[in-house]
Amino acid sequence: MEDYMKRIGVIGAMEPEIRKLQESMQDVRIVHKASTEFYEGTLDGHPVVAARSGIGKVNAAVCAQIMIDLFQVDLLLNTGIAGSLDPQINIGDIVLSTDLVHHDMNAVGFGYARGQIPQMEAFSFAADPALIELAEQVCRRVNPDIQVFRGRILSGDQFVSDQAVKDDIKKTFGGLAVEMEGASIAQTAFINGVPFLGIRAISDKADGSAVMDYPAFEAKAAMHSSNLTMGLIGQL
Ligand code: SAH
Repeated sequence: MEDYMKRIGVIGAMEPEIRKLQESMQDVRIVHKASTEFYEGTLDGHPVVAARSGIGKVNAAVCAQIMIDLFQVDLLLNTGIAGSLDPQINIGDIVLSTDLVHHDMNAVGFGYARGQIPQMEAFSFAADPALIELAEQVCRRVNPDIQVFRGRILSGDQFVSDQAVKDDIKKTFGGLAVEMEGASIAQTAFINGVPFLGIRAISDKADGSAVMDYPAFEAKAAMHSSNLTMGLIGQL
C-alpha cells in the first residue's frame, strides 16, 4: 500500500486468539514486560508485535500502552471472540468495531450517561474507518462462509451470560457484540492518537446459553478472527 511498512500491534486476550499469528511470524524476538510475552517480528515482511494480554480491561490497557511506548506501533488491532447482542449475528460470524463503549462505566449519580467516563469529552472510542473498510473486504475473501457486520462493541469486566443483563446492555447502548477488553484498548489507542480496529468473532449469544456455547465455539470463533487479522496485516 505504501513504501513505509507500518508496525502493527496485535492484542488477543487469550491464547487461542493470538497463537496462530505468533506461530506464523518470522524473525521472532520475545520481549518480556509486565508479565506478558511480546512477540516482535514480521508476518510475510510486515513488522508485527503480537501479545496475549490476559483477560479484562486492565490487562488489555496495560498491554496496549506497552505496544505504543516500547514497540512504537503505528496501529493497534484487537482480535478475539465475543458474545452476540443481535439475533442476526450467528456464532462464528465477525463483528468489526465502528466504536467501543465501556458498558460498566457508571457515574449517573453526577448526571453522566451510563458508559460516559466523567471529565472526558469522548463517549465512545471510534475505530479507524479505513481499517474497517479494508477488514470487511479481507473478511469476505478469507472467511467466505460467514457473515461480517460493522457496529458498536461493548466492553466490561463481566462475562455476560444472562438474558436480562444482555437486554439491559443492548437497550442502553445499542451495539452488536459484548466482550471484556476492546474499549480499553480503543481508549488507550485514542488517547495516544493511534489508529485502532476491533475484530471479534462470535463465540456465544451472551445469554443463558453462553456458558454452554462459549467453550464449544471458542476455538472456531478465535480462528475466524485470527484468519481475518492475518489477512488484514497482509494488506497494510
Ligand atoms: N475461558 C476463560 C474465560 C473467558 S472470559 C477461562 O475459563 O479462563 C471470556 C473471554 O471471551 C473474554 O476475553 C471476552 O472478551 C470474550 N467473551 C466472549 N463471550 C463473551 C461474553 N458473552 N461476555 C463477555 N465477554 C465475552
